[in-house]
Amino acid sequence: MKRSEAITMPEYIQRVKITMSFPLRWVNSYVLHETDGTVTIVDPGPRSSETELEWQEALASLGLSFQSISQIVLTHHHPDHLGLSGWLQQKTGAPVRMSSRSMKEAEYMWGQDATINVVLPEYYAQHGMPADKARQIHEHMESFDSQIMPLPEITSIEDGEWLEMGGQQWMAVETGGHAPGHLSFYAPETREILCGDAVLPQISPNVSLQPGSDSQPLLSYMEGVHRLGALDVERAYPGHRNPFLHFNERTVHLLAHHEERLQKMAERVAEAPVSAYDLCLFMFSDRLSTHQLRFAMSETLAHLQELVRRGLVVQEEQRDGMFLFNIKK
Ligand SMILES: [Zn+2]
Ligand SMILES: [Zn+2]
Repeated sequence: MKRSEAITMPEYIQRVKITMSFPLRWVNSYVLHETDGTVTIVDPGPRSSETELEWQEALASLGLSFQSISQIVLTHHHPDHLGLSGWLQQKTGAPVRMSSRSMKEAEYMWGQDATINVVLPEYYAQHGMPADKARQIHEHMESFDSQIMPLPEITSIEDGEWLEMGGQQWMAVETGGHAPGHLSFYAPETREILCGDAVLPQISPNVSLQPGSDSQPLLSYMEGVHRLGALDVERAYPGHRNPFLHFNERTVHLLAHHEERLQKMAERVAEAPVSAYDLCLFMFSDRLSTHQLRFAMSETLAHLQELVRRGLVVQEEQRDGMFLFNIKK
């Protein structure tokens, strides 16, 4: 069997592909059938009139209705996972469960006192991003509100807690880096894992540095992947692309990928002091959409921060208040 082929799902768990924007194209929602005839929904997807319709159709084709939903579980707070949960909660009255760290992060992104839409573009500008690009990032971030409103009322789940879904017990495993408070759910009996965006096949999950959030996201990510890689897993159900085998192998690959990227960046910094923005264009491409540029920029900053933590690189403030990265002498 080719690695990219979808594996067959056990009958108590169904995948529903919900449309989202390029380049990911869809998010995997999972419907887990409970012994009392109700279902648990994991990660309903981003909100739009299209995705609301997709859920109506998906439930009908599974012989279910909104009233069948007894609980909604979120791996993390990103709009492509959490987005529809408030809307679904309004329709069903079902509890929405997510980690308390993720709740804090949703508050930091979209709460009443949130300043990130202003702070992040300013931060990028200090790291060399041209003003017009930083302004586009600001506008782009404002456009997310419609995908996540209304925000759900959350009942928290914490690391190590057990949750019944699909008639079996799953343990919540909290790992950071892709999103603070990200939960994967691991069923030791059947060796299955619902891994959200912590580990994806084919794609390396984005690891973002954002001011005011986790200050060491790549370290958090790599520690988390180590922890997940130690679990005995046969089948993995990710947030994007297809369910896959070889989960542990994939974790090893992702860690090696980040080590390679760190080395490549350190080599570039050693040639001459560089801004995070110029390094971002060097590492990714200069033809990114606004959405991709934001993630590429924050990922570059996350790697640079890790090089600083390892004592290989220093961040130097220039006279004009801009930052450059230099090799540590
Ligand atoms: Zn995510
Ligand atoms: Zn995602």
